[in-house]
Amino acid sequence: MDCQEALELLQDFLKEELTAANQARVASHLAACRHCLTHEQFERNFLAALERAARGACCPDAVAARIRQALRSDLPG
Ligand SMILES: [Zn+2]
Repeated sequence: MDCQEALELLQDFLKEELTAANQARVASHLAACRHCLTHEQFERNFLAALERAARGACCPDAVAARIRQALRSDLPG
């Protein structure tokens, strides 16, 4: 897989909508390619922010707390 194909599949990869074989191909490209990995991390953060905004004010406290905890566990170090 080259970078162009990886980036084309990236959105569906993040939503886990690819076939298992394609999920694995994108994952292995990301493991080897810092350029695409940077894109993947940006897109992942962007999708997480959208999801937070969409849930927004109607989000029960328990769910909000879980999301905050999950985000904290993503931080480096
Ligand atoms: Zn790449």
